[in-house]
Amino acid sequence: MIQEINAEFDNTFQAEEPRNDDSVLCYQGAQILARQTVDALQYPMAADFSSESLTRLFSVGGQAYFLARTAPEHPPLGFDWLPIRALRAAHPQTLAFAGITGRHLDYWYRTSRFCGRCGAENRPSKTERAMVCSKCGLTVYPVIAPAVIIGVCAGDRIVVSRYANRPYQGMALIAGYCEIGETPEDTVRREVMEEIGLRVRNIRYYKSQPWGFDHNLLLGFFCEAEPDAVIRPDHRELAEARWIRREEIGDLPDSASLTFDMLAAFRDKKDKGGASA
Ligand SMILES: [Zn+2]
Repeated sequence: MIQEINAEFDNTFQAEEPRNDDSVLCYQGAQILARQTVDALQYPMAADFSSESLTRLFSVGGQAYFLARTAPEHPPLGFDWLPIRALRAAHPQTLAFAGITGRHLDYWYRTSRFCGRCGAENRPSKTERAMVCSKCGLTVYPVIAPAVIIGVCAGDRIVVSRYANRPYQGMALIAGYCEIGETPEDTVRREVMEEIGLRVRNIRYYKSQPWGFDHNLLLGFFCEAEPDAVIRPDHRELAEARWIRREEIGDLPDSASLTFDMLAAFRDKKDKGGASA
């Protein structure tokens, strides 16, 4: 998965100034400023930006990353705006992970500019990753949206779906956001009932994944439906949902996402053996 990198991710808050060779993450819409050569992804250096426009985010493998909170009028020489989604398959993965995670923080900074209580301007805290209201002092922290990815199984079969109204049209699993007042297991039960009309049991946590593209923390669960259960897809959300057998899963497009990790685990019987229990 995209976060499984052979380098330390250190997001301890530090208010330090950028050095010239620190990396800069700069976003504009759904694009990131980068250079993708045949064998490597590169980001611009702090030397190409005014230091007042940079906010320190984190370090990955000892390399510090800063966020450029305003995009430059002209990209530094050799760099261009690339679609952020391209990072999912970019190499080295360490840099791709930094760009995806920076995107989550960029989104939060952009949408936290004003106080939700009194409407005055927020300013970055000098002591922690937070925005503080300049008038009433309300402190807000980065927003992370928990969501579940669900492998609904019955024996050697698993439910796969395709979204109705999203650009991604590949194989997906049932998924949804945790609502206030729910445990993730409650979300699993509710989403499976809403999206395909099935009752499930033996809900088992599998793995998690921070997914900066959509500001999520994804929690993967496997669960079981009755073998003769009939799927009734909610066509407002899903173009289709159907059972497929382990051997029909085949090769997956990449190993970046928790969804594909779960499908591979089920295909290879590595989902802790629960599917046929
Ligand atoms: Zn305020």
